[in-house]
Amino acid sequence: MRLEGKRAVVTGAGQGIGRSIALKLASLGGHVAVVDVNLEGAETVAGEIAGAGGTAKAYKLDISKADEATEVMKEVVADLGGIDILVNNAGITRDNLIIRMSPDDWDRVIRVNLNGAFNCIRAVARTMMSQRYGRIVNISSIIGQVGNIGQANYAASKAGLIALTKTAARELGPRGITANAVAPGFIETAMTETLSDKVKEDFAAKIMLRRLGSPDDVANVVAFLASDEGSYVTGQTVNVDGGMVW
Ligand code: NAP
Repeated sequence: MRLEGKRAVVTGAGQGIGRSIALKLASLGGHVAVVDVNLEGAETVAGEIAGAGGTAKAYKLDISKADEATEVMKEVVADLGGIDILVNNAGITRDNLIIRMSPDDWDRVIRVNLNGAFNCIRAVARTMMSQRYGRIVNISSIIGQVGNIGQANYAASKAGLIALTKTAARELGPRGITANAVAPGFIETAMTETLSDKVKEDFAAKIMLRRLGSPDDVANVVAFLASDEGSYVTGQTVNVDGGMVW
């Protein structure tokens, strides 16, 4: 699998799964725009890539802001000459039971996780259409398929991402653009480290491979979907969950 010279944007790449995806795409020869609301994190990751001999630049973007997304994608196109790969990875949680969830917590999660991906796809679609080439990968979650107690906002946003992916695949396919979703299960990152040992053990018991996932497990599948080897796969959701949901 090679991505020599392919121009890639990864959102939420300042840490966790996004960081692993950015490092992986760069290790395969991609030129990576490391995008995050936290510029310091993005700069650190861009520095790691450069240190390993790759090509990367950090950009600050809050993906929930449509105008900001348009501006930053324009900047990336000016810097790299185009965008071949968009990985919509940035996401947040604001967990609570429905009866206790504030409308603000509902809105914020939908605005970041779902609107954010829409904002970025909208901002790169014309560029990819004129190139007649593009790879869009949206990071969903198995929670978007089965729901989870305390995560109504998150589950709805991740289910919405699957529908957004299928629609993007239909609208953009005729222009040579694929759109797929990756649905991780339980991956060890900052997002999951605050969970209690009991919750982690309960999750682990449901995983057929009997181990939690790593960010690299997700990055490997994203790299395949972003590569030419994945060129005949579109509109799909690939679960990367060690065998939790099927
Ligand atoms: P993470 O460690 O919390 O990293 C998420 C990154 O996104 C952070 O750098 C965060 O910056 C950034 N971010 C947050 N809001 C943003 C915004 N509005 N605009 C741009 N960047 C923003 O999360 P992760 O575990 O790596 O998860 C990455 C993706 O995988 C998410 O979409 C998540 O839902 C999905 N996922 C994770 C798991 C898992 O088990 N970890 C499972 C299924 C799906 P700040 O830290 O400054 O907020």
